[in-house]
Amino acid sequence: MLTRRQMLATGAAAAGGPVFLPFAAAAAAHSGDMFETGSGQITVFPVSHASFVMKTPEMVIYCDPVGGAEAYADYPAPGLILITHEHGDHYDVPTLEGLVQDGTQLITNPAVHDMLPDALKARATAMANGDSGSVGAMRIDAIPAYNITEGRLKYHPQGRDNGYILGIDGFRVYIAGDTEGTPEMRAVENIDLAFVPMNLPYTMDVDQAADAVADFAPRYVYPYHYRGNDPAEFARLLGETGATTEVKLGPWYS
Ligand code: ZN
Ligand code: ZN
Repeated sequence: MLTRRQMLATGAAAAGGPVFLPFAAAAAAHSGDMFETGSGQITVFPVSHASFVMKTPEMVIYCDPVGGAEAYADYPAPGLILITHEHGDHYDVPTLEGLVQDGTQLITNPAVHDMLPDALKARATAMANGDSGSVGAMRIDAIPAYNITEGRLKYHPQGRDNGYILGIDGFRVYIAGDTEGTPEMRAVENIDLAFVPMNLPYTMDVDQAADAVADFAPRYVYPYHYRGNDPAEFARLLGETGATTEVKLGPWYS
């Protein structure tokens, strides 16, 4: 039986569109985006919306996997699953139950930790805003993710949800989660690669996103979680600020 990804690949190839290769072939073809660290490469595979797979020299990390485990059938099993918050486009129990293997760890915000079924909770560690920890040699910092604009505060109230900064042998990855351009986002430093959301009413518009990204100036940024918005417009606005950040446009909505 073909996986969903293989079916997409078959259909897209027949139509002359982009081809989505199984993980091993994709890695061999360098079709994931690769980033160099001191100890090897990080490869990022956008899956959809806020979900992605990241392979580091040490482990395979899934961030906010939803949409059913079959969407991940072509990727190696996760050593670590990061959950930013409880919304259905970030947290889905059946997907998690289908993905965890022996040795899979979960890191979640405290609210999600409280909701986890026992079998998943046994694998999970809660990190609150401001907490720091590590998995293997990787450092993890939990960064606040929340709304700051009147009328949107109910979506992501301050103090509940996480973003994460991962420190991978000196390469720093900032996964913003669902947030606006908070003071905490603007204050993050030395970020190599950032994932930044941009959709209303849940997060922010492309103008606010470009302004905030220009402030913390990562080397690379993925617009993600942008359904209904134009990441090219974000890239144009960011360029107007004079920022030297390189915008990566992954296939989030293929
Ligand atoms: Zn959300
Ligand atoms: Zn969301």
